[in-house]
This record gives sequence, C-alpha cells and structure tokens, in this order.
Amino acid sequence: MAVESDTQGGKVALVTGGSRGIGRAVVERLAGDGYDIGFCYRSDEQAAALVEKEVHKLGRRVLSRRVDVTRSAEVRDFVTAVEEELGPAAAAVTSAGITRDRPLVTMPDEDWDAVVRTNLDGTYHLCRAVVFPMVRRGGGAVVTLSSVAGVAGNAGQTNYSASKAGIIGFTRSFAKEAGRHGIRANAVAPGFIDTDMTSVLPEKTTKEMRGRIPLKRFGTPGDVASLVSFLVSEEASYITGQVFQVDGGIAL
Ligand code: NAP
Repeated sequence: MAVESDTQGGKVALVTGGSRGIGRAVVERLAGDGYDIGFCYRSDEQAAALVEKEVHKLGRRVLSRRVDVTRSAEVRDFVTAVEEELGPAAAAVTSAGITRDRPLVTMPDEDWDAVVRTNLDGTYHLCRAVVFPMVRRGGGAVVTLSSVAGVAGNAGQTNYSASKAGIIGFTRSFAKEAGRHGIRANAVAPGFIDTDMTSVLPEKTTKEMRGRIPLKRFGTPGDVASLVSFLVSEEASYITGQVFQVDGGIAL
C-alpha cells in the first residue's frame, strides 16, 4: 500500500520486517531523521497500516508491501516498486527475522530451513537487489541485523545462531567488495530486546537473563534503532564491515 504525504521527496530507506519490533522502530526513527520509507512485512497488514500512519504523521512518504523475504523475485519487485515510487534508496536495513528454537537433537529440517532461509537468504535477497542500483549511483549504507547468538552461539539456537553468524560473514564480505563503490555495510548484533520475538520466552528464562545483563534490563527496539540511525548517517561515513553489539553488556 502506498501513502503519500505533502512533503517533498527526501532520502529513501528500505527496511525489511518493518511492521513490528526492531524493524518498526527503525522505520519510525529513520522517518524522524527525514527519510521516506519503503518497508515490507510477511503477513500482519494491520500492524503495517499502523506503522504507515506513524510515518505519515512524521511528514514522510511511505510504501509498504507484503513480501516474503525468502523469495528473491518478491524482494526484487519490492525494491523496484519503492525506487519507482519514492526514489533511489540511500539506505537499506534487513530486520526481517524469525526464531524456531529447538535442541539440535530434535531439530526438524523444516525449522532449520525456515530460519536460515528467512534470516540469511532474506538478508542476501535485499542486499542483492539494492547493490547494483547503489553501485550505479556511487554509494549507499546497509545495516544487517545479526544477534549476539551469531557472535557467541546459544544453546537451543543452532539454526538461528548459524543464520546470524552467516549474516556477519556476509556483511563483512559485502563491505570489502562494495567499499570501492562508496557502499558501507555494517551489522548490528542485539542481545535481548523487548519485542514479540522475546515475549515468548518463559518468565523464568527472562528473569534469569535480566540478572545476567550488566545493565539489568532488556533493550528497547529504540535502543537498536538509534544505532541504525547513526550507522546509515554521514556521521558514520568511515565505518564499514563492523559488528556492533547492542546488548546491555550481556556478552562481556
Ligand atoms: P519481531 O518483532 O518478531 O518482528 C519480525 C518482523 O519480521 C515482522 O515485521 C515480520 O512480519 C517480519 N518477517 C518475518 N518473516 C518474514 C518474511 N519471511 N518476510 C518478510 N518479513 C518477515 O522481531 P524483532 O524482535 O523485531 O527482530 C528483528 C530482527 O532483529 C530479527 O532479524 C531478529 O533476529 C533480530 N534480533 C532480535 C532480537 C530480540 O531480542 N528481539 C535479538 C537479536 C536479534 P509479520 O509481522 O508480517 O510476520
């Protein structure tokens, strides 16, 4: 769905998984920074409509689309539609992600595939779709969403950790490859952030984790969005290929 505002076109940012959680906070933060926004989501149209409203209130243009990031053609079409409607993308953020936690010994192939295809393939699909337009224009900033589980590993999350570690390797390689074209790529690795993804954790685990976090709280989606906002900005113009943990110190 496209929603137009009265404002002049600004810089454009693409965000996958922008309807909820961290992606939603990124959408709203970047809209506040003056970006017009193209975001996608998998199924929750109502949530997406609310986010569109918020972006509109901030005076920016927005185009949201139902896209399955595991499908490369859908992601390509989404990028093309956003660039045609809103203009060339200066920034791209890959926040769409899922968990299917299980010990390896009982891991069904479907849960392995779903997590790797959504998190890692989904990241590849967006970056693959934006890289050529960004090369042609001589620059851009990409931020991928990894996780502390991708840095340190986590029991019960072999599928998720593998996908998130893969994102780190992908991002570093992308940064090395595309730097000469003025494209920067960095990964953000959150710890425990208060979103629907962590709301399914048992109360006992949540309590135990809080106790282990030096800052004694879960992060907010805004804690992650403010780093993303910095990384896509000119303030970060000499930073690429890095992994930034936003985790309250849990991985120390
Ligand atoms: P969330 O609240 O569960 O939101 C996930 C978002 O991704 C939703 O917008 C969802 O759309 C979208 N999505 C899921 N599968 C998709 C697909 N196949 N195609 C398109 N969109 C899809 O998750 P979150 O907590 O904000 O997490 C955002 C990112 O941060 C993820 O990559 C996650 O792995 C990472 N992360 C989160 C935490 C944490 O503690 N929350 C920690 C470390 C890393 P629908 O609503 O339409 O399904």
